[in-house]
Amino acid sequence: MERPIIGHEWAVDLLLKGLTIGRVSHATLIVGPPNIGKATIARVFAQALNCTGEAPVPCGECVSCRKVISGNHPDVRVLDAPGQSLKIDEVRGLQRELSLSPHESRWRVVVLCEFERATAEAANALLKTLEEPPAQVVLILTATEADVLLPTIVSRCQVLSLRPLPVTLVKEALVSRWGADPVQAELLARLSGGRLGWAVRALEDEELLARRDEHLGDLASLMSKGRVDRLAYAAGLSRDPESAKGALALWLGWWRDVLLLASGSRVPVTNVDQGAMLHQQAEQVTLRQAQRMVAQLQSTIRNLDQNVNLRLALEVLLLSLPSVDGNIGR
Ligand SMILES: [Zn+2]
Repeated sequence: MERPIIGHEWAVDLLLKGLTIGRVSHATLIVGPPNIGKATIARVFAQALNCTGEAPVPCGECVSCRKVISGNHPDVRVLDAPGQSLKIDEVRGLQRELSLSPHESRWRVVVLCEFERATAEAANALLKTLEEPPAQVVLILTATEADVLLPTIVSRCQVLSLRPLPVTLVKEALVSRWGADPVQAELLARLSGGRLGWAVRALEDEELLARRDEHLGDLASLMSKGRVDRLAYAAGLSRDPESAKGALALWLGWWRDVLLLASGSRVPVTNVDQGAMLHQQAEQVTLRQAQRMVAQLQSTIRNLDQNVNLRLALEVLLLSLPSVDGNIGR
């Protein structure tokens, strides 16, 4: 059988080794950037814990594995509602379930995705379970960073910190497992920054790349526009926070590329399909301006995680975007 997970071998091996030698950690926290594979690893480990097939586990074919894959295993619960916060009632419900023995398998497994979104009450309630985990229970939490969780939660978990995969590995996987065209795979792998989940989504959802073109085009044309247009654009973009966050991440990648070229670096750029446009912009701005834009985009993205006013943050950012004369090609 091919490995169920691409990359992150050390993390998967660590979890499976614990299982093989009979030392399963009752609580694991998997941290890493969005769409990097945290929930995938959690699901595969949930399969492995209850797999009844032949080694190496998970076999992916036994009744138990198939139930986990289809989301119908009575002893495996995955709470993965993107963007929604975990409430205390849900934690109490889980705790009632966890106090019972598993229905049909060895372990009761609960996967709580994006645990940073849990309310403070919910996190505190879960702490009780982490302090005195019932036998035969395994909890797996995922989060973008350990720093944003209660230290008391983190200290009771085995923490696995996932890093982005090498771009070449993402590219190969897109071609060999998802049948992507090599040129497109190269672009998506670079744009993904090593997050395979993102690259696969972009491959399957053409809108994602269309939105990228739109946001890059907007950025270029705003540079030749004045204050009024920039403020109007900030107001419009702020009405859709998810889209605004996507645009900011994209613009950061773009300005990093401009900075690389402006500084004469030979490190490959991310936006491989936009070489001409990148070179043009790198000539139109100073090194200092490129540095400032990268720094400002980074701090804007960080501030948004702290719930600052989105519209105001976008206004400040776009007003400091360097101005160029005339239309620059888009
Ligand atoms: Zn199995």
